[in-house]
Amino acid sequence: MKNISILGATGSIGQNTLDLISRDRQKFKVVGLTGASNIELLAESAIKFKADVVATANDSKFHDLKEMLSGHQIEVCAGKNGVLEVASRQADWVMSSIVGSAGLLPGLKALEVGSNLALANKESMVAAGPIMKRMAKAKGVKLMPVDSEHSAISQVIRGEERSSLSKIIITASGGAFRDLTKADLIGVTPDQASMHPNWTMGQRITIDSASLFNKALEVIEAKELFDLSISEIEVLIHPQSLVHAIACFCDGGMKAHIGPPDMRHAIAYALYEEKRFNLPVDEVNLSEIGTLDFEKPDLSKYPALRLGFDVLQQGGLAGAAFNAAKEEALDNFLDYKLSFLGMADIVRATMEELTSKNLLSSEVELEAVIEIDLQARSVAKTFVEKI
Ligand code: NDP
Ligand code: MG
Repeated sequence: MKNISILGATGSIGQNTLDLISRDRQKFKVVGLTGASNIELLAESAIKFKADVVATANDSKFHDLKEMLSGHQIEVCAGKNGVLEVASRQADWVMSSIVGSAGLLPGLKALEVGSNLALANKESMVAAGPIMKRMAKAKGVKLMPVDSEHSAISQVIRGEERSSLSKIIITASGGAFRDLTKADLIGVTPDQASMHPNWTMGQRITIDSASLFNKALEVIEAKELFDLSISEIEVLIHPQSLVHAIACFCDGGMKAHIGPPDMRHAIAYALYEEKRFNLPVDEVNLSEIGTLDFEKPDLSKYPALRLGFDVLQQGGLAGAAFNAAKEEALDNFLDYKLSFLGMADIVRATMEELTSKNLLSSEVELEAVIEIDLQARSVAKTFVEKI
């Protein structure tokens, strides 16, 4: 029996993970589950999967959650510390699927107590990749990719020698606006940006997919997870979202990973530690699809992607600042205070400001990451207010 916890159990990744657990119940014991605002789903999941402990990140929801779980032998916690408490219960496997930088400390805590960590929360790798890797190494535990592209990379490089790998291509669907021109993007709304053509995901990552901020984060995540250099990573727009990553080798050979746009594939690959699990997913019917398209992204339409490569070049605390500025910009877009294209402008201005003050070149240590995260949000906010 494998002990598992899910940080961010009420979200899209969290619920997909529980769907997998429900198909193989005897193999898994659920230790802890966390959520934030959706305590109804948190309580329902905790009861269904007989969790030992649950936490809502929202302090104000503690009493309601406790009431929903009264009569059940389930410990209830709340607030940031409550989430950390759940993360600190050692488990064989922990899913890190809280959205945003709020996932960093809980993910790190899980590693610290010796749990293997399945990493959907890309933001923690972008902001603090070296810290996460150091902790995993020190504790002798695994960091397993869950992002579909990164799971795909791990699958195509498996069994290959690092020295024979010349490049990794990760694909991007192009998101909600892939058929629009840059001019068409002026005035697009959060609701329009929240509709992904191929994937069903949480709202924030869906909007980040439309702007390609998500791909920018993934480029940095790929560098951290697979120790790639900037020249070893390429992004191609692939509207069908069937090829998730391609490894290119020194002999001209390439290996592509093809799979349906269903996150359960990548989650199961991490959950079963690189063994295949029989999943009820539709097989990709290549003869029906007929054509797979790839094209270079237009960086004037997708400025966020260029910013992501700049961050790769810069290193240091640039990832943490970039992620925080992006989160602030996205909050403002969702509040109708910033346009869709304005998000990249705010992030660029924030990065330029912090770079000009030489604030991004320090070592990636936890305190510095937390400090630059706050500074980047504050600088980004100031730029938004000036608009
Ligand atoms: P969702 O928005 O669907 O879920 C986010 C989860 O985080 C929910 O459980 C939510 O709780 C919880 N949460 C929100 N804010 C906080 C907070 N401040 N503190 C603690 N918990 C919080 O997101 P997704 O499942 O789509 O994405 C999760 C992560 O996985 C992200 O990092 C994303 O980039 C990554 N990812 C997602 C993919 C996908 O297909 N969805 C694909 C690849 C990566 P509640 O809902 O109760 O408020
Ligand atoms: Mg992805």
